[in-house]
Amino acid sequence: VSSVDYRQVVEQIARDVRPLLGRGAVADFVPALAAADPKQFGMALSTLAGEEISVGDAGVPFSIQSISKVLTLTLVLGKLGEELWQRVGREPSGNPFNSLVQLEYERGLPRNPFINAGALVVTDLLMRLHPADPLGVLLDFARTAARSTSVHIDGRVAQSEKARSHRNQALAALMKSFGNIDADLDQLLDVYCAQCAITMTCQELARTFLFLANRGVVPHTSQRVLTTSQAKRLSALMLTCGLYDESGDFAFRVGLPGKSGIGGGIAAIIPGLLSVAVWSPGLDGCGNSLAGIQALEQFTTATGISVF
Ligand code: GLN
Repeated sequence: VSSVDYRQVVEQIARDVRPLLGRGAVADFVPALAAADPKQFGMALSTLAGEEISVGDAGVPFSIQSISKVLTLTLVLGKLGEELWQRVGREPSGNPFNSLVQLEYERGLPRNPFINAGALVVTDLLMRLHPADPLGVLLDFARTAARSTSVHIDGRVAQSEKARSHRNQALAALMKSFGNIDADLDQLLDVYCAQCAITMTCQELARTFLFLANRGVVPHTSQRVLTTSQAKRLSALMLTCGLYDESGDFAFRVGLPGKSGIGGGIAAIIPGLLSVAVWSPGLDGCGNSLAGIQALEQFTTATGISVF
């Protein structure tokens, strides 16, 4: 598929999703996110061959929220390796991202790293691996992968979430009672809320995820952050668990490993080829971008490329 085709496809998508914009609900449990204009839509593509294509609001920064779970997992898996799986599983949960129910009867072992409980464990490990400055290490990685120094943590969003983080506090406290969290809970929640408040544009996000399409190597620095096997496994987890209890439907409709966030962003990859990011703040009932999923579905349908 040539770059001209990609541009045509993406521009057609931007026209076709218009009726969906403004539908869905903007996330409101993080008050600082509730103000986002639900009519915004951006989409950006970044290929391993070096093409970059974007439409709409692809240059507008937004809160990546749970998409950050892929970045923390990359740093922890890359450094710790297999030991990670003693602390967190790799099975879809079939439950909402912030659910508590499974966690008690599964004795504090979260189903996977992409629900909040699992991500809290990964952040706990990031703090153990980089005690001096876990967020600095994370931000460095995000900026390098995005090739942008404007990637930052929005302190207002982080504080706003921390003030309303009772459910995440409950998840962390429950896991601590089972011995699956080491860090001080308040510090853990600070780091977790800050990582969720990482702010990027679709263009930056598409570039950031290229290392996963490139078997674990950041293309422009040639730095290997994951082994080929780890990159494959992390991508498999995105396919099976990346969109919470809508992961099955996303695999069915889109057919790509992807990761969503309640800011309305979704990043997805086609291994060996490209990375694509979409953003539109209106969410469906599972907390995933309504127009974003539709755009990605149309992208794989129109181009005929997916992992299947
Ligand atoms: N910061 C949000 C939370 O922890 C992230 C959730 C999400 O993006 N799904 O609840």
